[in-house]
Amino acid sequence: MRLPLTGICFAIFLTAVFAVTGSSQVKRMKILISADMEGVVGVVTGEQLSPQGFEYQRFREFMTQEVNTAIEAAFAAGATEIVVADSHGNGQNLLIEKLPKNITLVRSWPRPLMMVQGVDETFAGVIFIGYHSGTTNSTGVRAHTMSSATLADVQLNGVSVPEAGLNAAIAGHFNVPVIMISGDDAAVKEATDLLGNIEGAVVKWNYGFHSARTLMPEAANDLIREKVKRAIGRISEFKPYKVAPPIRLDVRFKNYRPAEVLSYLSIVERTDAHSIRFQGRDMIETAKFIEFMMHYEPGLTP
Ligand SMILES: [Zn+2]
Repeated sequence: MRLPLTGICFAIFLTAVFAVTGSSQVKRMKILISADMEGVVGVVTGEQLSPQGFEYQRFREFMTQEVNTAIEAAFAAGATEIVVADSHGNGQNLLIEKLPKNITLVRSWPRPLMMVQGVDETFAGVIFIGYHSGTTNSTGVRAHTMSSATLADVQLNGVSVPEAGLNAAIAGHFNVPVIMISGDDAAVKEATDLLGNIEGAVVKWNYGFHSARTLMPEAANDLIREKVKRAIGRISEFKPYKVAPPIRLDVRFKNYRPAEVLSYLSIVERTDAHSIRFQGRDMIETAKFIEFMMHYEPGLTP
């Protein structure tokens, strides 16, 4: 449809008026909360981390509490929409009936954007709750990257990244910064070393892979509340973690055969007995490759 020139001018004028009045009304701030479990208060061994553990059901409560605290604090500080990604183990840890009705929840695997599924360019920031340090870190409760049983290193363009770094890079693809992390002292230090001056809530101090001195749940929640509020208060200061494409992904397996079999694919290069390399166009393709690598097996059903 062609408008006469005066009509076009009037349309531009109206658009400008709506743009100005619209922006002075509701300012939208979408936040994604990615929740893991190893960095939740009190967690020290597998007994708290999987349905077989004698303390798992109770620690789902503590994990849910920490996520709830982050949600409440984020809304109180100005967030207008929150998506939570349940990102530990089976992806079905958070107690859905204990979460508020004004959020949405991402559950279970596989999913192409992994622990930050749901993020896109409309988000203002990402919060990590219950995070742990990476597999190349010699300190930290349950230090691992994606799988403590199978992976010994994950690198993006030559830099070893913990889950916090990998997920920050996926969010960074959409220009979304990580603004806050909670976990043990090793996880918080590793993330701030890599991502810059994000807010960090240290809820326990590790003595090793299976031991830590921990805050009590109420104190951990007070700290998480304070740090989330502070992070949202200075949200404009944070920069997205951008890994320049193409992305060179290097993965070192603990075992030999994953590298052998993956190298049958022409898109995969075997770089040594235990390691492979994949080049992704961007972080999205790279994340999908990792998710495929971690989840594919011919017995998948349905
Ligand atoms: Zn986990």
